[in-house]
Amino acid sequence: MRAAVLREFNLPISVEEVELLDPDPDRVLVRTKASPFCSTDVTSFHGNLGKIPPTILGHASAGEVIEVGSRVAGIKPGQRVIVPGTPECGTCYYCGIGRPDQCSELFDLGGIYPDVARTAEGQLVSAAGCVGGYAEIMNVSKNQVFPVESDLPYDVLALLGCGITTGVGSVFNVAKVQPGDSVAVVGCGHLGLWAVQAARLAGAARIIAIEPLADRRALAGELGATDLVDPSLQDAVAAVKSATAGRGADVVIEAAGAPEAQRLALEVSRRAGTVVYSGVDHGTAEVTLPQIPLAVQSRQLVSTQNGNVRMRRDLPRYIGLLERGLLDASPIITSRYALDEINLALKKSETRDDLSGVIVF
Ligand SMILES: [Zn+2]
Ligand SMILES: [Zn+2]
Repeated sequence: MRAAVLREFNLPISVEEVELLDPDPDRVLVRTKASPFCSTDVTSFHGNLGKIPPTILGHASAGEVIEVGSRVAGIKPGQRVIVPGTPECGTCYYCGIGRPDQCSELFDLGGIYPDVARTAEGQLVSAAGCVGGYAEIMNVSKNQVFPVESDLPYDVLALLGCGITTGVGSVFNVAKVQPGDSVAVVGCGHLGLWAVQAARLAGAARIIAIEPLADRRALAGELGATDLVDPSLQDAVAAVKSATAGRGADVVIEAAGAPEAQRLALEVSRRAGTVVYSGVDHGTAEVTLPQIPLAVQSRQLVSTQNGNVRMRRDLPRYIGLLERGLLDASPIITSRYALDEINLALKKSETRDDLSGVIVF
């Protein structure tokens, strides 16, 4: 099969023929149909998230099942499936407490991901994040394959592996936004724009989009934001306060990743408000926060991985919203690329020309 192999950090990704390893009895072969190029892949490309080359990036995909191992039940060849960034083994401690977003099958691997292919020179190639979505075929755990009953196009379904689940889940599952709430969204990339749409669906009274790029800010307005703030020109704290009776936002969704954005997210919340961190800058980034807002003022700082997703609960819900047009992927998917164009997709993600550039097969 052909795969986009990250052979060395910071060097162009190599699209090459590799030999797919035979799947073991608990694994599934999926023909990849679509994989979005995510900002997390840019961070991994630069060696800032602990991946080990040679590896295949791409941590969220949709495709069609080709073959299942002998110990796999409930998944059949020909099914349309989502291969999300997070598995759900159902037996680890975290799955047991209802938090499969922290499933041991991914997070207790210590960053050593399974090998799925071999290069022409015989070198083993891993699937980063256990997905390896930038390849024609994925060799994945049965616990990371979720059949879907939906005619939505594959490029939309693929966004359910990371962007939609994180942005929408931050609002529904983590902040639990209520009708009438004021919600500030810091950063209007794909995660932030999904959060804006979810806040609108939750009935938020004010949705304040804080974003320095004019086109992203304008899109946030089209998707439901009531107030648009350019933090490079305006005092964002003052702007949010003036939109919220002087208090600050009831809920703040941080969807940017930079430490300054995370600090700003805390600053624009109200006392005893809820702040959700969903972005990540790089593996060793640190955030410095003032103590009084967290302690005396009781602002509730929480974070989320993949929107605290529970795939079997959330997928049908999110798919229904997409099918009814209540969540709209069309402005979020800004480009479609062939696998051979992966280095262009990388560049367009890094320069923020793309919201979600999707590799389609
Ligand atoms: Zn992602
Ligand atoms: Zn688990």
